[in-house]
Amino acid sequence: MFVGIDIGGSKTKGILTDNNGNELSFKEIETKKTTKEIDDDLYQLIETLATSATVSKMDIKGVGIGTPGPIDKERGIVLKAPNIPALYNHPIVKNLETRTGLRVFLENDATVAILGAWWKENVSKYRNWLMITLGTGIGGSLIIDNKIYTGQAGNAMEVGHMTIDLDGKECPCGNRGCWERYASGPALVELAQSYVKKQKGSSVAVRAKEEELTPLLVYEEAIKKDETALAIFEEYSTYVGIGIVNLINIFNPEAIFLGGGLSQSYRVMLPTVKRIIKKCACPGFKDNVILYAISDPLKIPAFGAAKLAINATGS
Ligand SMILES: [Zn+2]
Repeated sequence: MFVGIDIGGSKTKGILTDNNGNELSFKEIETKKTTKEIDDDLYQLIETLATSATVSKMDIKGVGIGTPGPIDKERGIVLKAPNIPALYNHPIVKNLETRTGLRVFLENDATVAILGAWWKENVSKYRNWLMITLGTGIGGSLIIDNKIYTGQAGNAMEVGHMTIDLDGKECPCGNRGCWERYASGPALVELAQSYVKKQKGSSVAVRAKEEELTPLLVYEEAIKKDETALAIFEEYSTYVGIGIVNLINIFNPEAIFLGGGLSQSYRVMLPTVKRIIKKCACPGFKDNVILYAISDPLKIPAFGAAKLAINATGS
């Protein structure tokens, strides 16, 4: 049995699986703000997953963790995580190994996401494909000729920090105009807030007075054809599309999988994203690339983290 943990900017998800990828238990918790809280929560999460599945912790052979990077996977530390500052230089692997007595392995969150998609989605017909996770930040991961491309130190495909506007919005990474400042979940909310100020009578604005303005709220109004919600998604999806065009022009992939919380809105996003690809990507690159939303964006990265542990222990 293996535990996979996907640490995101807002939520942390844990899954307990058997060697074949059958889910034994799953739990989602808030990602806390301090290193001590995060360490305590990871320990407790493993305990809870084992208890819920009525298995002994002794039967767990390894724990895989995916975190926003960049990371140093040999030393088991997160080098920088703009969306979770507490993880900066934090020895997350050593602390959890000491506390649990289990072997723990660390990977970039986007790499575990693509490991999960590779394991659980039907991707066998593709040799060159990539995955983009749209959430609190934007992650990317890449399969070249049936191998995961991780770069020099496991940090390749920080696609959220590709510059799409030289003088654009400031990003916690220290740069300006990064893609995730326009196409992540918080960017969608920021965009929605600017629309709500101008169009006070829209159903998005009316609901936003009573409840928190979230991507889900905007999506729910968009599928009811509220004009403001549709305009928000049109602009947001244009930014998503621009980043995807860059990736298509660089990698010429056969397929692109969309994951992360925002991929649940793909029905509203996809027409605009496809239009931008058709308009802007290089001829010969754009015609045969297929876009998918992965089937279970909530659990796929955690599955991938469990697969990381399976692969690392040679099970
Ligand atoms: Zn950035």
